[in-house]
Amino acid sequence: MNHERLSMRLERVAIHIPKGSVLADIGSDHAYLPCYAVSNGLCDHAIAGEVVEGPYQSARKQVAMTGLEAKIEVRKGDGLEVLNPDEATCITICGMGGTLISSILESGKEKLGTAKRLILQPNVGAANVRSWLIDNGWELSGEEILEEDGKIYEILIAEKGDPLRPYRADKKKGLMFGPYLTEQFSGTFIKKWQLEKKHLERIIQQLDESGRSGLETKRKELQSQISMIEEVLER
Ligand code: SAM
Repeated sequence: MNHERLSMRLERVAIHIPKGSVLADIGSDHAYLPCYAVSNGLCDHAIAGEVVEGPYQSARKQVAMTGLEAKIEVRKGDGLEVLNPDEATCITICGMGGTLISSILESGKEKLGTAKRLILQPNVGAANVRSWLIDNGWELSGEEILEEDGKIYEILIAEKGDPLRPYRADKKKGLMFGPYLTEQFSGTFIKKWQLEKKHLERIIQQLDESGRSGLETKRKELQSQISMIEEVLER
């Protein structure tokens, strides 16, 4: 992967960056996404944020190598603290767990003033991100699911709006499975939830084999998740 040839995962993220955006890519690592977005005319100006020294230096090197220093600023800092309050119009946070993405958004809320679109790609725990969006007035406007190198990724796109609108059918299921992904019902979506069901069944089996007492509540909780997966897959 480089800024000219992104992974399919980041390419699908880039597709959702509105033309003319001021992009902030938080946790940018090599800054491939902002370099790609600027090189391909998706945005004129971008900020790459990184909290860890190694990836921060990689981002600086990549931006220098592509000759984009005038258009991409690499800033070191935790989450959204690298931004001024009225700066980014599109924010991408990709390749981390959903809990970390939600906590970055939560701690930097005041920096989201001018943001029109969030593109979030949690590796796991997408339900956490959906939940944060609902609590903070962001309406999920689209979702994608894709498989690359044996891993399944979800991409969530959100804009300011009515956060409950996509969840009218069933909020609990919507949070867990994604309202748009459930509707699309793609082969990758089916595969993800078949695998998750097997994983939960294995945990139940381990609980049963452990012979420990007091695990009934945990068992019921897992069983109810399995039932929910079955309901969604058998629609
Ligand atoms: N976004 C890139 C992608 O999707 O390919 C890189 C993903 S990499 C797995 C996660 C990056 O996020 C790491 O470089 C890590 O240093 C950075 N990171 C983690 N927590 C962060 C935070 N609170 N603020 C900024 N960067 C963070």
